[in-house]
Amino acid sequence: MNLDFLLIAGPCSAESREQVLETAKGLVASGISIFRAGVWKPRSKPGLFEGVGEESLKWLNEVKIQFHLPIATEVSSADHVRMALDAEVDYLWIGARTTTNPFLVQEIADAIAVHPRKPKGILVKNPISPDVNLWVGAIERLQACGAEEVMAVHRGFQTGQPTEYRNAPCWSASFALKKQLPTIRLLLDPSHMAGKRRLIPSLIEQAVALGYDGLMIESHIHPDQALSDADQQLTPETLHSILGAIQTRTSSASDSLLPLRQQIDEIDESIFALISKRMEVSRKIGQIKKSESLPVFQEERFAELMNKRLKWAKENGLSAEMVEAIMNAIHEESCKLQM
Ligand code: PEP
Ligand code: MN
Repeated sequence: MNLDFLLIAGPCSAESREQVLETAKGLVASGISIFRAGVWKPRSKPGLFEGVGEESLKWLNEVKIQFHLPIATEVSSADHVRMALDAEVDYLWIGARTTTNPFLVQEIADAIAVHPRKPKGILVKNPISPDVNLWVGAIERLQACGAEEVMAVHRGFQTGQPTEYRNAPCWSASFALKKQLPTIRLLLDPSHMAGKRRLIPSLIEQAVALGYDGLMIESHIHPDQALSDADQQLTPETLHSILGAIQTRTSSASDSLLPLRQQIDEIDESIFALISKRMEVSRKIGQIKKSESLPVFQEERFAELMNKRLKWAKENGLSAEMVEAIMNAIHEESCKLQM
């Protein structure tokens, strides 16, 4: 994990003052960067816990003051934006259901643009279905509203295919997003992706291996009693030990990579020393060709060389495609030297 890895953690929902403050206290030990809690909860069915609402913003504010932690909450309307920014919320996130709707995203962007206090950052979850343009479009609308930074959060997709995840990862969609927006910070939300605790550690490990810039994770002081998303929340202690184990594994892995990397460096130096020797010989051939008025490019000779190398590649288990590309590059350079 690199040092500027962004770690956002906190409960799915702010349920009570005590639950919010106790969870934040536990999470401070893990060195989290931002404390999250849902104040208005989007629920699939009516009658479920929909968050405490505006009242709970006060508890988030207490976390900010007591623990010196920036705070984040979800907004899905202009009213939410106004209330959250009035309450000095630092980061706003846009939920997956909201990202799906460009009308709502625009309403949120407009509400941020006219508010005198700007968020430090906006986190945009991927839309429900793997539509990269919808995700990029939401980010672009929000990049125009005056926030310091807009980040992307991969929380998985509904694909209609059977999967053990609550929302299946689509790594290629997140890389397609990075291709369109190369400078954006990309975070993983393993909680909503997994939907269950057991799948979370390996998702975190994949995010680290794939070079993600951070995580947004749900953590609750008493996960089994959580009023929303109980199955996917971790205690602050469990989160701490999962992150510690991954950190130890990734740093010891890099220790064992060191001698192999030294070998690679030495091999690369030898390869380039040989190429430079080959270019010297090529230059001498060029002088002879010039004095005897022979053509620089001799098709038959190159075809013969290429065939020999491709035969060798096959016998030695190297891909013909790679050997052909290398030979073409070397030959092109030799021709240039002889002209
Ligand atoms: C959440 O982060 O609490 C949430 C509701 O996320 P999503 O929009 O990814 O479902
Ligand atoms: Mn949740």
